[in-house]
Amino acid sequence: MRAAVVREFNEDLSIEDVADPSCPRNGVVLEVAACGVCRSDFHGWVGGHPKVVNGSVMGHEYCGTVVEAGAQAKYKVGDNLIAPFILGCGDCPACQTGMSNTCESAIVPGFGAPGAYAQYVAVPYDHNLVHLPLSMSPALAAGLGCRVTTAWHALTDRANVRAGEWVAVHGTGGIGLSSLLLAKMLGARVIVVDIVEEKLSHALSLGADAALNAASENAAERIREITGGGAQVSIEALGIEATTNASVECLATLGRHVHVGLPAGDGVMQINMRAIYSKQLSFFGTRGMPSWKYPNLLSMIERGEVDLSPMLDREVGLSDASAELRAMRGPTPPGTAVITDFLG
Ligand SMILES: [Zn+2]
Ligand SMILES: [Zn+2]
Repeated sequence: MRAAVVREFNEDLSIEDVADPSCPRNGVVLEVAACGVCRSDFHGWVGGHPKVVNGSVMGHEYCGTVVEAGAQAKYKVGDNLIAPFILGCGDCPACQTGMSNTCESAIVPGFGAPGAYAQYVAVPYDHNLVHLPLSMSPALAAGLGCRVTTAWHALTDRANVRAGEWVAVHGTGGIGLSSLLLAKMLGARVIVVDIVEEKLSHALSLGADAALNAASENAAERIREITGGGAQVSIEALGIEATTNASVECLATLGRHVHVGLPAGDGVMQINMRAIYSKQLSFFGTRGMPSWKYPNLLSMIERGEVDLSPMLDREVGLSDASAELRAMRGPTPPGTAVITDFLG
């Protein structure tokens, strides 16, 4: 099969013919219909993720059709499925208490196992997967497994956002845009922060109540002004020191910071602890979403409660993935890229 392989960090992915994946007993092989290009992949591509090495195939935001099913698989050949990026084992205490996104035996294709920047991907623990709704395009569905589910879990489970609260969103990439759209659906008021004007106007057109450019103004100060004392919830959706500090500094007393952005580099940052201490903030980390929450989220999307189509900006070929990763070195345009042509 054709795959985009990491050979040297910061260099174009190598488009190679590699062996087809063998089917796990407890899972399936999918023919990949679509795979999102995510900022987490960028961290791997620059050498900042310990599980991305020479020979890795990235790609953790995928959906596709079952072409082979193992003896113990839940699904069968022909099923169209979406995968959450964290595949919980199903047997450990975390999985059995509904927290499969914290499973210590979890497998994440694209990070330590071959991912979906390829024509086929092996997916063990297929009980984590869900049927792709007929009304949803694979390109849109591909982004669900990572950014939308992560944002949904951050808002509903970690921050427990309530209608009428102010939610600040730092960074308007995939996670940030999902957070905006989902927080609005929950009845929150949302302020987005970015450094690209085009992304700010895009966010305003999608219902953001305010949009701030952190390159030209002090985002935390402005958020405290606009909200009359600070946001109740702040989503950090980039993973760098500046946005983490802006996030804790923009919060009201007893506010909740949710850290969603994969921390850059070794993850060590200088954080304004005085803000956390004196405002008695909660500081949540979060990663992924337990797969049992998928059906409710999908049904809200299917019923039209929230329109996620603005998240998808462009469909690209496998050989274009390198250019998408390269572009993430600097500010990127609104919306995300999804690979839908695995021969192009
Ligand atoms: Zn992702
Ligand atoms: Zn488990």
